[in-house]
Amino acid sequence: MGTRLLGRVAVITGGCAGIGLATARRFVDEGAKLVIGDVNAEAGATLAAELDATFVAVDVTDAEQVEALFQTAFDTYGSVDIAFNNAEILPLEGGSILAAGLDDWHRMQEVNLTSVYLCCKAALRFMLEQKRGSIINTASYLAVLGSADSRIAYTAAKGGVLALSRELGVQFARDGIRVNALCPGPVTSPLAQEVLASEPDALERQLVHIPMGRFAEPQEIASAVLFLASDESSFITASQFLVDGGIAGAYVTPT
Ligand code: NAD
Repeated sequence: MGTRLLGRVAVITGGCAGIGLATARRFVDEGAKLVIGDVNAEAGATLAAELDATFVAVDVTDAEQVEALFQTAFDTYGSVDIAFNNAEILPLEGGSILAAGLDDWHRMQEVNLTSVYLCCKAALRFMLEQKRGSIINTASYLAVLGSADSRIAYTAAKGGVLALSRELGVQFARDGIRVNALCPGPVTSPLAQEVLASEPDALERQLVHIPMGRFAEPQEIASAVLFLASDESSFITASQFLVDGGIAGAYVTPT
C-alpha cells in the first residue's frame, strides 16, 4: 500500500467498470477515502464492501443527484479533494452524422458532457472553500483526432469535455484547484475483446494506428489518473493529458 493520496477524499463517477474501477482500486491502495458514484447499484454495493468505500447510486445527468454525491463525500469524510469525472455511455450503432438521430445526439451530450459540467460545478463548491483540489475529467483521444469510423456525437461530447476542462483549469488556477482532461487511447474491455476476437481484420486495422501495437490496460490509465490526482502533478493544469500509446503523434502509412 502506498501513501500518495493519504488523507485525500476522492469522488469517482463511473467507478463500477473499466477505467473507473481500476482507478478506484488504485486510489484506495494509495490511501484515499473513496466515494463511488454510478448507476450500477448492484456492482456499486459489492465494490464498496470490497474497498471499504462509500457507494452512491447516481445518474450523472441529474443535477440534484450529482450535488448529493459530492455532499455525501463531504459529510462522510470531511472534504472533497479529488473529482474523477469519468462516467460514460458509448456510441450506439451507426455513429455517423448520416445515420444517428437527434435523440442519440442529445443523450450522448447529456451523459458524456453535461454530466462533467455538473460534477465540476458540484466539486468546485467544496474545493473553492478549501482552496485545494484536483479535478480530472475523462475526455478521449477522439477529442483531438477525428475518427474515420465516425461516432460524431461521442467525438463532439469529448471535444466539449476537453475545452471545458481547459477553461476551468485556467479560471481556478490561482485558487489552488487544478483541472485536467485525461485523453485515453483505446483500452481493453471485455466487450471490446469479444468483438475484436470475432473480427481479426478489424483489430489489425485498428492496431496499425497505435504505435505501441496494442490497447491500453485499464490499470495503465489509472496510473495516469493517480498522477494527476496527486501532488506529483502540482504544476499541471488545463492540460490535454494524452495516454494513448502514441496515436496522436503518429503519421501512419498503410502497409
Ligand atoms: P465503461 O463503459 O467500462 O464504464 C462506464 C461506467 O459508467 C459504468 O460503470 C457505468 O455503469 C457508468 N455509467 C454509465 N452511465 C452512467 C450514468 N448516467 N450515471 C452514472 N454512471 C453511469 O467505461 P470505460 O471504457 O472504462 O471508459 C471510462 C471513460 O474513459 C469514459 O469517459 C470513456 O468515454 C473514456 N474513454 C474510454 C476509452 C476506451 O477505450 N475504453 C477510450 C477513450 C476514452
